[in-house]
Amino acid sequence: MKVFYTPRQSVRDNESFSPSAGKPAAFVEAALRGFPGQIEIIDNFRGVSPKGIALAHHPERVRRVLACEENNGFGNRKPSVAASLPWTIGSLYAAARAAVREGGATCSPTSGFHHSSYASGGGFCTFNGLVVAALLLKLEGLVDKVAIVDFDIHYGNGTDNIIGIKRLSWLTNHSLGGFATELRGDKDIEAWLAGLPGELDRVAGKSDLVLYQAGADPHIDDPLGGLLSSDQMRRRDRAVFRWARARAKPLTWNLAGGYQEPIAKVLALHLATVEECLAAYES
Ligand SMILES: [Zn+2]
Repeated sequence: MKVFYTPRQSVRDNESFSPSAGKPAAFVEAALRGFPGQIEIIDNFRGVSPKGIALAHHPERVRRVLACEENNGFGNRKPSVAASLPWTIGSLYAAARAAVREGGATCSPTSGFHHSSYASGGGFCTFNGLVVAALLLKLEGLVDKVAIVDFDIHYGNGTDNIIGIKRLSWLTNHSLGGFATELRGDKDIEAWLAGLPGELDRVAGKSDLVLYQAGADPHIDDPLGGLLSSDQMRRRDRAVFRWARARAKPLTWNLAGGYQEPIAKVLALHLATVEECLAAYES
């Protein structure tokens, strides 16, 4: 499995409740250790330019955040966070581009996208790399339709905001956070998991690319989540990967949220996603 990672996309010193900024490095280290010989690190991609980021955002906000004149999505102005932003988006874009061109599934160890709206950030999200990556691929003529399948536990409000403002009818956003409250208990959850292939056909069947936010925060023990057991999390991922493989649908997945402490618990959930991805694409 190709993982698009450069140390430039990870931040060591971001003191925040969210561990997201430092997760790329921690995830890659854990994945290489946990799945020796099965992870291929790709680091020959570029950071996305301010102009590229401004395809989805107010250009002045992009300039000010990158210049540390305005708060990032963590609510601080740390230069280390600002410096990482072109590279987190670059990772997702490069991973998605490779999936489209080569087929199969790729991984971008990134978080912090879906709460970022056209003109503002928040909820540990600064810029919306999901929308930027989709827009860049669309401009290149590599995709016609893109589907965001967002199974983080929180609603991707920023994604919908940009889709609305920019009138991106070719880009769809299917967010678990938008309907998670309808899943009341195990019976509903099991029915949801069983129905996932049909649901994915409906929301992503016509797309040329799926951007899958495999958030760890729907886990039952997550302080900001609290829905799915570890086994149900695995079956969520399994259903998505098996569906994409069966439909020959290019897919890129990223880490998104996860707030359990210590961070080892979050990483264990992300590694379970790796395992399910590897298993689904084993030939
Ligand atoms: Zn979340």
